[in-house]
Amino acid sequence: MSEPLRHPGWAVDPPAGSPDRELVDNVHPPDWTNPTPAGRYHLVVLGAGTAGLVTAAGAAGLGAKVALVERSLMGGDCLNVGCVPSKGVIRAARGWHEARTAAERFGAPAAEGDGEFAEALERMRRIRADISSHDSARRFAGLGVDVFLGDARFLGPDAVAVGDARLEFRRAVIATGARAAAPPIPGLEDAGYLTNETVFDLRERPRRLAVVGAGPIGCELAQAFRRLGCEVTVLEMADQVLVREDPDAAKIVQEALLADGVTLELGVAVKRVERTGGATGDGERRVHFERGRKAGSVAADQVLVSVGRKPNVEGLDLERAQVRHGPQGVEVDDRLRTSNPRVYAAGDVSSKYKFTHVADAEARLVIQNALFLGRKKASDLVVPWVTYTSPEVAHVGLYEKDAREQGIEVDTITVDLHAVDRARLDGEGAGFLRVHLEKGKDRILGATLVSEHAGETISELGLAITAGVGMEEIAATIHPYPTQAEVVKRAADQWRRGKLTPTVQKALGAWLKVFR
Ligand SMILES: Cc1cc2nc3c(=O)[nH]c(=O)nc-3n(C[C@H](O)[C@H](O)[C@H](O)COP(=O)(O)OP(=O)(O)OC[C@H]3O[C@@H](n4cnc5c(N)ncnc54)[C@H](O)[C@@H]3O)c2cc1C
Repeated sequence: MSEPLRHPGWAVDPPAGSPDRELVDNVHPPDWTNPTPAGRYHLVVLGAGTAGLVTAAGAAGLGAKVALVERSLMGGDCLNVGCVPSKGVIRAARGWHEARTAAERFGAPAAEGDGEFAEALERMRRIRADISSHDSARRFAGLGVDVFLGDARFLGPDAVAVGDARLEFRRAVIATGARAAAPPIPGLEDAGYLTNETVFDLRERPRRLAVVGAGPIGCELAQAFRRLGCEVTVLEMADQVLVREDPDAAKIVQEALLADGVTLELGVAVKRVERTGGATGDGERRVHFERGRKAGSVAADQVLVSVGRKPNVEGLDLERAQVRHGPQGVEVDDRLRTSNPRVYAAGDVSSKYKFTHVADAEARLVIQNALFLGRKKASDLVVPWVTYTSPEVAHVGLYEKDAREQGIEVDTITVDLHAVDRARLDGEGAGFLRVHLEKGKDRILGATLVSEHAGETISELGLAITAGVGMEEIAATIHPYPTQAEVVKRAADQWRRGKLTPTVQKALGAWLKVFR
């Protein structure tokens, strides 16, 4: 038998006919019977999030005998409590924002009323349930993968246990992901708080939401919940939001949050949280903070904590498998191999880039390296990422500071988004594209784009970096008019103009004088 579902954000037995019922039936079916282990596996995969699913499906597709072990919901964070629900909620919030502002911006009919918060979240749950069939236990069994539902732990360097079953392997992949880190704030545990594992389960709009942490998840959700009608206060230790981003990009997001009516308490240390209302879990909380010597507090109906991610390594008995790990998770070399040459790791449990597309890329790399004598290196991956605020911030490759740390001098080109007609027609606010090139060369090192749909446009630059395509070729590529992607062409044109030395300019001028 499989082990029963344990997940903090989920009713173990959602009501019949509900989207959550459909989802659980797909990704942790209560009637699932674990198979009998089939001798030694080519590959045992621990964890069925993106990294685990992609590894298992890819290896099985190539003919390997694969076992996949999941203790909670297949699909992992991305499907259940991460990318999918957050982007569903963000889409609803954009819709609400557009409806509210359309009269003023476009002369549209005025929108009135508070909106149906519960319906916005239920829409997300319906879509999530629908998507979940792709990650379902039955689908993976159909792909030839032995799916085990239960806790995986190592028995030794070449065997894993799930319940009473012993799975022996030639190779194993640890893909157990990460979870929300809980900061040691006095009173927080007793007061009760939300994380990404529980926030998408809200059925009622919290009137006041305090968000602790202004990283990508904190900013995305703060803005979305504000647009869905909550009074939102963000508390952040740094003096700005999105500290790891290009400072100009972070500044635009910060101003957008303020413009939406989010209250920002920056440069504060959260000292204590107390429950001031009833003891039912719905009561009021008060978040106490200090800025320098000044103390302040914020009242909230719910507190959402988003202060970073912690790798899931507990309970795996990694010592028995001779797999080294530390605070950053499972330690891997550039080929994603752990200290046990039979065991690899991929995704959030070991990667410094905690994104679904990186988990996916690492899984593909592991299949080649673990099973087919591949020599692929993680450091060769060109990694893009996006913060899905409004406007979005998309980045790929190196920031200027990374390049300098690596001893590479850079040329930087910045194009204001308002130089692009389509951006103006779309009514975009502040934004820009910034491209870093190796000094004096046509080699793109990295780029940051701030625009409403920056995530869609950044891939052109990702492809350019991956394929070694430079600005010369981008400038020679016809971009349809009017599109937002023209911002990339604008940057290439600007780069070209910068190449015109005074001597060349003089020579061209002289030629044109003669050529009349
Ligand atoms: C709110 C939020 C929004 C996000 N938005 C985006 C986004 O827009 N784009 C993006 O690219 N990324 C996003 N991410 C990050 C993305 O969700 C993760 O990078 C991705 O899920 C990592 O996949 P993974 O397979 O490494 O781990 P996970 O998805 O965490 O999967 C690990 C799986 O292992 C299982 N497991 C753990 N321990 C055991 C055990 N002992 N035995 C068996 N199973 C075990 C877990 O239950 C889990 O299902 C977001 C994350 C959050 C929290």
